Amino acid sequence: MSAIASDALVLRTLKLGETSKIVVLLTRERGKVRAVAKGARGPRSRYHSSLEPLSEVRVELHGRQGTDLYRLGQCELVRSAFPAGDRGLETALSLSYFAELLDAFSQEGEAEDAAYRLAVAIVRAAEDGVDPAALARYLEAWLLKLHGLYPPLDRCAACGGLLPRGALRYHRAAHGFVCDDCGPASGPVLPEGARAFVVDAFRRAPAAMTGVPAEAAVLESFHQDLITNHLERALRSQRVMRDVARETRER
Ligand SMILES: [Zn+2]
Repeated sequence: MSAIASDALVLRTLKLGETSKIVVLLTRERGKVRAVAKGARGPRSRYHSSLEPLSEVRVELHGRQGTDLYRLGQCELVRSAFPAGDRGLETALSLSYFAELLDAFSQEGEAEDAAYRLAVAIVRAAEDGVDPAALARYLEAWLLKLHGLYPPLDRCAACGGLLPRGALRYHRAAHGFVCDDCGPASGPVLPEGARAFVVDAFRRAPAAMTGVPAEAAVLESFHQDLITNHLERALRSQRVMRDVARETRER
């Protein structure tokens, strides 16, 4: 039985018994996989800090092809998502949101190279200090697009005609943006700035995103609607971030 070697991002870990962990990984070779990391919770764990969420690692997985649970062999830390010290609360929360989002959109055992490259680029951009809110909207837009869930930004979902410049009007019944002739649209309306942000996101690397538009809140709730519809549940860390933001405001 030969081991599988793969680049991977750690998505999350779960406790297993007294001393071990189950690690959920996004691998380049096999998509999302679960692996048992024996002794990972012991004081002299061989895995040290390589199992922190969104750490970039090089792993060796043992187990039969198509197995539900691999055994984690070597796990070499390539790049930590949490370099010593300087993590603000917002960045830390954003990183856990990115990990949860990637986890929710990834299929077990199905390699998606585009999603893997996207994830790595996002983590590195976060590390380079790109606004975490811009990265969150960027990642949401791309994961939705890669799963065929982002409505076209230039064509009317009802008649196929070219959409005029300016704000975009979403119509739930058409699952997309519609032109004035095919309206009235149910909403929401994406203001011009939000539309420009998404157009940019689909053209540029995450490291090139300079900030979020003034209308970021509209874009955020539009994306959350699409995500919740697709997953049929809301994401936990999104809720946590909103609570923290509210508390910070109220203080
Ligand atoms: Zn139309």
